[in-house]
Amino acid sequence: MIRMIILLLVFSGSLYAANPEIEILSDTAFAFDMDGSRISVEIRDPVLLGKKDMLLDWVLYSAQTVYDYYGRFPVNSVAIKMQVTDGPAVHFGQAFGGDSPRLRVVVGEDISPKMLRKDWIMVHEMVHLAMADVPYAHRWWLEGLATYVESIARAQRGHLTEEFVWNGFIMRMPQGLPKKGDRGLDLTPTWGRTYWGGAIFCMLADIEIRKLTDNKLSLRDALRGVLDAGLSMHASTTAMEVFEAGDHATGVDVLMPLYLKMKSDPFPIDLDALWKSLGVTLQNERVVYNDNAPMAHVRKSLLKS
Ligand SMILES: [Zn+2]
Repeated sequence: MIRMIILLLVFSGSLYAANPEIEILSDTAFAFDMDGSRISVEIRDPVLLGKKDMLLDWVLYSAQTVYDYYGRFPVNSVAIKMQVTDGPAVHFGQAFGGDSPRLRVVVGEDISPKMLRKDWIMVHEMVHLAMADVPYAHRWWLEGLATYVESIARAQRGHLTEEFVWNGFIMRMPQGLPKKGDRGLDLTPTWGRTYWGGAIFCMLADIEIRKLTDNKLSLRDALRGVLDAGLSMHASTTAMEVFEAGDHATGVDVLMPLYLKMKSDPFPIDLDALWKSLGVTLQNERVVYNDNAPMAHVRKSLLKS
């Protein structure tokens, strides 16, 4: 309940700075341009069509969130297909790469602005557009990245409070830790290791880049460099090529060495010690900060820039 209240407070008012004009192409097809990228949306279901204004608004502010994080919309065009199901929530999303990237999202027919504001799926799928396809063994990288960047990008845009993000990270990241018998990220494709193990990798990389660059650069700069190298969802590659491009962009060796540590070995992390060093802990379900912690300055900047 606390989370919901915080979220609702954050989501008042306009959600994006620029307001691209929505073009109505037909009764079921809509589009807008974002700094040269074409984002088209198809809604065929009559119930969802009746809610098209709120749905297009959701697409727009999600696209703006991803645009801000990457400094551009990650692909030249994307076709978004909305399909209907029962219920009041966004149920599912899927991203497809290649020459013509597209997203499929399944939305409940009772969807409301309140539920759209809580949704994470649209931003998650759009983050997938910013990364090249990689072999199945590296799927943790794709899903971990989308899981981590979705929270960071929404917080940086002011759509989520810091408390909401830290509460989520502290509660959920333990699901990514190696369980008994697990091996490295490349070798243990369970749900927890794929989504939250990958997110732990991203958070450790983000922190390390910031430490090595006096907080001037971050994972965001590495990822922008990966896009500069042409490795959006248009492309297929290996995680190694992505990590080389990312490290080259920041000038510090972080992604590749971390990958070599975590790819085959379980590499357990003491998350409680990490939260303590960042100066953020949960006490009685409330986020408590310690600005005297050794890495408090890194924690403070993580959700800001
Ligand atoms: Zn995903």
